[in-house]
Amino acid sequence: MKVCRTKQELKRELKERRKGGYSLGLVPTMGFLHEGHASLLRRARAENDIVVLSIFVNPLQFGPNEDFDRYPRNEAKDLAIAAEQGADLVFAPTVEEMYPSKPLTNLKVEHITERLCGASRPGHFDGVGVVVSKLFHLTAPDKAYFGMKDAQQAAVIEQMVLDLDFDLEVVKCDIVREPDGLALSSRNVYLTAEQRQQAVVLSRTLAAAEGWLQDADLTIEDVMAKVRDAIEEAEQAVIDYAELLHYPSLEEIDPGMRTAATEGQLIMALAVKFGATRLIDNQLYAWERG
Ligand code: AMP
Repeated sequence: MKVCRTKQELKRELKERRKGGYSLGLVPTMGFLHEGHASLLRRARAENDIVVLSIFVNPLQFGPNEDFDRYPRNEAKDLAIAAEQGADLVFAPTVEEMYPSKPLTNLKVEHITERLCGASRPGHFDGVGVVVSKLFHLTAPDKAYFGMKDAQQAAVIEQMVLDLDFDLEVVKCDIVREPDGLALSSRNVYLTAEQRQQAVVLSRTLAAAEGWLQDADLTIEDVMAKVRDAIEEAEQAVIDYAELLHYPSLEEIDPGMRTAATEGQLIMALAVKFGATRLIDNQLYAWERG
């Protein structure tokens, strides 16, 4: 497995390795890899000749009061996981390498970014759009792998790929969870033991909501009240957002609507803070109504 620190090195390596017309799968990450990232790498390994992992904590997607400086990093462990999962190349540039000067080009995907993390983290998806575009240009992947843990991100990238004619397929991968249901996240290491215990409230509430959404007597407003109550039972939980939207359009649903009248694929998306740590989770629901 080769580690490239510069764009030039990466391009040179890829030019050499792709001479036979080999397919390439890209797995973009911010490092501090866990089993969620490993699952993306495994899928990429199974579906492509060449697998590239990128590790880059992208300052553009962090707000001024967010955790860019303290975002967890462990490159040695990341490289061991990447090698174990059969990655061929790791692209791990510095911030200066990625952005020799402050980019003056912005990338805004409208509409899909108006709610959820787009609303609570202004500019976040613009930064994601810029870095992912750069990674797409640098690696020209056939397929790029994204986790549904960040379902809004996956929808935004898919829209960007469609709108800007990136010649690649966005592969959306299932959320990997701890045995008790907590979605794996690099940020879980920030949690105290008590917060870690309470954090299971996110996945439990999402599972319970599936039942509430099938109770024809309830309106969407009723369901959302139950969702909020369930989360707030965890003492340290502070809700950033809890929303039920259409997916992938992320369009609103009339809160007065009965659950039985909803159609298509819906997403229940949660962002909950435990102390300074903000966790996100979501679940998609799609069912045929009788
Ligand atoms: P990150 O390093 O957190 O930016 O994540 C890199 C990629 O891994 C993104 O596409 C995430 O959606 C994905 N990912 C993170 N956590 C999980 C998880 N628990 N299950 C599946 N994919 C994940």
